[in-house]
Parts: sequence; structure tokens; C-alpha cells
Amino acid sequence: MQYVSTRGQSDPLSFTKAVATGLAPDGGLYVPMDLPDLRPFLKDWEGLGYADLCEEFFKLFATDLDPVVLKQCVRDAYLDFSHPDTAPLKTLEKGLHVLELFHGPTLAFKDFALQLLGNLYEAQIQRTGNPINVLGATSGDTGAAAIHGLLGKEGVNIFILYPRGGVSALQERQMTCTRADNVYAIGIDGTFDDAQNSIKEVFGDLEFRHSAHLSAVNSINLARVLAQCVYYIYAFFRLPEEERENLTFVVPTGNFGNVLAGWWTQKMGLPVKGFHIATNQNDILYRLFTTGKYEVHSVHPSSAPSMDIQIASNFERFLYFHEGQDPARVREIMSQFRDSGQYTFADFNRDTFSASRATDADIQAHIRDIHEQYGYVLDPHTACGFQNLPESGTRVVLGTADPAKFPETIELSIGEHPKSPRLEELKAIEPCSYVLEPDPESVKKFIHEHITS
Ligand SMILES: *Cc1c(COP(=O)(O)O)cnc(C)c1O
Repeated sequence: MQYVSTRGQSDPLSFTKAVATGLAPDGGLYVPMDLPDLRPFLKDWEGLGYADLCEEFFKLFATDLDPVVLKQCVRDAYLDFSHPDTAPLKTLEKGLHVLELFHGPTLAFKDFALQLLGNLYEAQIQRTGNPINVLGATSGDTGAAAIHGLLGKEGVNIFILYPRGGVSALQERQMTCTRADNVYAIGIDGTFDDAQNSIKEVFGDLEFRHSAHLSAVNSINLARVLAQCVYYIYAFFRLPEEERENLTFVVPTGNFGNVLAGWWTQKMGLPVKGFHIATNQNDILYRLFTTGKYEVHSVHPSSAPSMDIQIASNFERFLYFHEGQDPARVREIMSQFRDSGQYTFADFNRDTFSASRATDADIQAHIRDIHEQYGYVLDPHTACGFQNLPESGTRVVLGTADPAKFPETIELSIGEHPKSPRLEELKAIEPCSYVLEPDPESVKKFIHEHITS
């Protein structure tokens, strides 16, 4: 299997090369040259456990990776999940389920992709003998999940910048209480954008980037999207036979990564009727899927902070298939969008998508209602999924985080303070963090000092 750039001006790459490269040199994102047909396999996959299913799925994509290495990477990725089903399906009532994707080490769904990506990086380091130093900025969940994906791995250091005071206390603890000596969680005096900008400049210094073996951690890595495909297939098999028709996945989304993965499985032949895109008040995707106009507004912080995003970085992968796999069209649309902050589709095909947006007040109301009706506690991101829930057929809402990660909003909604044993354990560990000014020279100096010592 080969992977091509959505902008069509970079050479196709194999799986391992595309994973190691991240962003394509032409600025595009890697996508499979053609999506395979899963239908011949579905019967055989029905009874598989999570890691086995993931392995079978990846065999179709990671065609240049040694199958023994693949097996090991996949197996190890899901060992540290605390639920025996890895991604359990909780039934609220017939036809309404929550797919719980938060039993991994950092209690949010990003662990599904980043645990595996960490293992793929480690395998790459062992294969090539080249150490790497991963650098990223985070507003919370991604940084914690990336750190836990790379914790203690041979040949890799990870440097994560976060805004001091701009992430929750628990998220900060997840990044700073790791006891691993290859992890550098760096609080900066500034905003997430300041962190992001200084990192861009560090990567822009090509000489430093090469001498320090820098690699990015970001939401656009191909392996992340593929890893997220697996739980859609797994969830389908967990449904009773009579509930598999008319199936809609409801996906709380920001970067379009999670819902893109589901849509790909549908294109590969998983019999899903549709996808419901659930945004918070940062509603660029809601507006696109209801009006056909893609237009950036400014970000308004919400109580579902991991979805406080305006430019959905994985959207370009959707666009590529929406435009009939025509990279020239992708380049044209992306450049117009970059120049004017908007693009209006003359013929936007909503395909199988519907959409809704939830305000902070809606989020609290859903947490309260679902708790009253079913005794089940939603996290604020998952709660967005209950806004204008499709009324008919089977609905599977993706549960993206453990409510214990966002205790303030839960407390406001239902007067209870949710706890998680994993988060309680963190309180006994001494945090280890560093503080820097958000300027690129300080960041480079810090990295240099810590990789040569
Ligand atoms: C990252 C995140 C999301 C949004 O996922 P996308 O892939 O950006 O759509 C939703 N909920 C939680 C808890 C997250 O951490």
C-alpha cells in the first residue's frame, strides 16, 4: 500500500516512511492511495479481541512493516488499558449506546492512537538506529497522551510546551508526574498560541532541526487516523445483530480526526448509515455541514476545551475524497481558504453527515439529563454528542474522555465530584516540570542542553 499527499506534489511513500514523515513536503497530508474493501474480511473479524482486530486491520495498511514487529507494537499499545474490553460499549437503552474510549493511561480517546504511534516510533528507532527528539505544544489532552505514548522508550526524548495556568490541574499532573527521565514538560508564560508559534520557529531552523533529530507530534500523523478506524469496526461487532442496521455514530469533534476515521471505515465497506458531527460553541464544522460554507471565526474557550479549535487540521483529508481525489482542487481550495479565511462550496455534498453545536449551557443540561435518566455521567465533550441526537435507528455516541478529567463542570451540572483511581494516584507523585519564556532561542537552548547531557 502506498500513501499519497492530498496536494499531489510529493512522492508517494510506504507506510513506515509516511508515518516517519508526518506532514508531506508539499504541505499536504498523507492518505492511502486507495481505500481497501473490508467486506471480504468482516466475517472473520467478528469475534476478535481489540488488539487482534487492530493487528488484522493494520496488516492491510502497514504492508512494509515486519508482521512480527507490527504484532508486538499493537499488543503493547493496548496492555495499559484498564477495561478488559479496551473500548467497552455501554448501553443506555435499546438503540442508544456510549462507546467508552477513555480507559487508556490518560483517560481520553487520544491514547488509542498515541500508544500505538509511540510503539511505531520506537520500532523505527530500533530499525534505523537514529534517535529522535519529539517536540510539541499542547493545550492539554494531546500532550498528555503523547507523553504517555513515549514514556521511558529507548532512543527518544519528548519535549512538550504547555501554557502555565492554561491547562487543567489534572492535565498538568498527567504531563509532569511521570517519573520518566525522557519526558520534559515545559510550562511557558504565555498562551497555547505562543507555545505553538515558538515551536514553529524552532522547526523552521532547519539546521537545528536536523542536528537535534527533531520530530513533530501532531494530530495529522497518518497512523493516528488509521488507529482510530479500529474502534468503529470493533463497536459495530459489539452491537446486537438487529441493531446494526440504520447505525449512526455520533462523534464529538474539533480537528475532524475522529470522525474522519469513522467515515473512512464506511468508505471501506463497514455498513454504517451515517455520522453525526457534534461541536461545542466553536462550530466551524457545524456551520460547514449545515450551510456548505467553511469559515474561520475566533476561538471561544468552552467547557469542552479539547474541541476549542477553529481550523480542523484533518479536514483536508476529507476534502481530498470529497473532491474526487483531485489534488489540484485541494490545492485551490486550501489556498483560497488560507488567503481569505473562508471557502464556500457550490456543491457541498453532506453525504451521510448531520451536525449539531452545543453551548456550555447545553453541555451542563445534557450531563444533568443523562444522569437523571440513566444514572450515567458524561464528560463535557461526550455531552456535546447529545445535542439534537438523531431520533431513529441505532445511535452510538463516542465517549471521548473520562468525566473525572473535568470535575468542575460535572460538579456544576450534577453536584457530584467524579474521581478516577488513575488520577488519584498522580497526587502522590512529585511533579517534575520546567519553566521557560516562550521564545524559540530559549527552547532550542533547553533542548540542546538536555539531549547532550
Ligand atoms: C481531542 C479531543 C476531542 C476532539 O477530537 P478530534 O480528533 O480533534 O475531532 C474530543 N474530545 C476529547 C476529550 C479530546 O481529547
